[in-house]
Amino acid sequence: MTEKINPYEDALNRLSEVAEKFNIAEKDIEILKHPKKILMVNFPVHTSKGLKIINGYRVQYNDALGPTKGGLRYHPHVDIEEVKALSFWMALKNAVLDLPYGGAKGGITIDPREYTKEDLEKISREFIRQIHLFIGPQIDIPAPDVYTTPQIMAWMMDEYSKIKGKHVPGVITGKPLSVGGSLVRSYSTAMGGFCVLREALAKYKINPLETKTAVQGFGNAGMNFAEIMKGQNMKIVAVSDSKGGVYNEEGLNIEALVKHKKDTGTVVDFPSAKAVTNNELLELNVDILVPAALENAITEANAGNIKAKIILELANGPVTHKADKMLYEKNIVVLPDILANAGGVTVSYFEWIQNLYGDRWTEEEILKKLDSRMKKAFDNLYDNYVTQSYVDFRTAAYAYAIKKIIEAEKDRGHI
Ligand code: GLU
Repeated sequence: MTEKINPYEDALNRLSEVAEKFNIAEKDIEILKHPKKILMVNFPVHTSKGLKIINGYRVQYNDALGPTKGGLRYHPHVDIEEVKALSFWMALKNAVLDLPYGGAKGGITIDPREYTKEDLEKISREFIRQIHLFIGPQIDIPAPDVYTTPQIMAWMMDEYSKIKGKHVPGVITGKPLSVGGSLVRSYSTAMGGFCVLREALAKYKINPLETKTAVQGFGNAGMNFAEIMKGQNMKIVAVSDSKGGVYNEEGLNIEALVKHKKDTGTVVDFPSAKAVTNNELLELNVDILVPAALENAITEANAGNIKAKIILELANGPVTHKADKMLYEKNIVVLPDILANAGGVTVSYFEWIQNLYGDRWTEEEILKKLDSRMKKAFDNLYDNYVTQSYVDFRTAAYAYAIKKIIEAEKDRGHI
C-alpha cells in the first residue's frame, strides 16, 4: 500500500522550502540537514525461531533544545532513512509544543507479531544493552511507537536500571503505571489529536456533530481516537487496519468494533458494515480523515481524490510533500503530525517530570495540562503564521520549530 518514497528526502525538501519562504539563511539551516548522532547495531538473539541477527537504530537528530526524545518502532520496514526522518520530525514536534527536548527516534527491523513474548523480552533487553551508553534521562529518552508497548518499555527500563545498578525510571516513558508510567499516556496521542481537531473545527466553524470521519489505522492512536470521538457523539463511518477496512455511512458502533478487533485481531468482517480497502477508505466522502497508520498513505497518486475537508495526521508522515501541495490547492486543511500527534510526547514529558521528582499526578491534572499545551500550540501556529503569512499548518509548524531550534543553536555558539 505504501509507495516507496524516501521520507527523509521529502522532509529535507520541505525544510528548504520553508526556510526560503521565511527568509531563513541557508547557512543557518545547514545544521538541520544532518542528524547529529547515529547508532546502528546488529546483535544476535537466540529466539524460538532460532538464532537471529537483529538490526536496530537510534538517531539523535538535534539536541539544541534539550536531551533528545522520541519513540522506538518495531516494524519489518524500519530502515535508516525512515528513522532519520522520524527523528527529524521529533525535533520539530518537541519544538512546536515548547517541550525542553531535542528529537530522536529508533527502531528495530522485525515483525513483532512473528515472535513470542519471551523472544520480544530477550530482543528488547539486548537492544538496551547495545544502546545503553547512548541513552539516559538527561541524554536521550525513548518511548513507544509503532508496535511497541508499555510492557516493552518496562523491560527496557528494568534492563537499563540493572546495568546502572539503581532505579532510573526517567530513562524511558510510556511505561506501565506499576513501574512509574503516567496516567493518560496510553491514550494521550489520540487525546492530543482530538484537542487539535476541536480547535480547528471551531476556527473553521464546522459543527462537530454534523461531521463524518474515517480513520485509517486501528492501533493505539486510531482506536483510542475512535473511542474519544464516540464519547463526544461524533460519527465515525469507516476504520481500517493493516488487513483491510469497514464502512457504514450511518456510523459504526465503535464499542462493538473495538470488541470485534480484540476478539479477532482485525476490524475486517465486522457485521453491519461494508468492506473497504485502505486506499478506498482514504477517498470516501467524509468531512474528517484521520491517517493513523504509517508514512506515505496520501501521495500524488491519490491526493486528487481526497474528499475530506480536514485531515488530522495521527500517524507520522502520512502525507508526502507533493501531496501536501495538492491538498492545499484543494483547500483541504491538513493538521500536521508534528502538531496533531504531539499529545503522546507531551504526556511522555509529564511522565518524565513525575519520574525525576518521584511524583504522581492525577488524571484530571494531566488532562488539563495536556489540553492547555495542545491548544496553546495550535493557537500559536494559527494566530502567528496561518493567518499572518497565509500558509498551511505544516509550513507554520516547520517555520516556528526551525526558528526556535536555530535560535538555540546560535545561543549555544554552534552556528
Ligand atoms: N512515538 C511517539 C511520537 O512519535 C511518542 C514519542 C515520545 O513519547 O517520546 O511522537
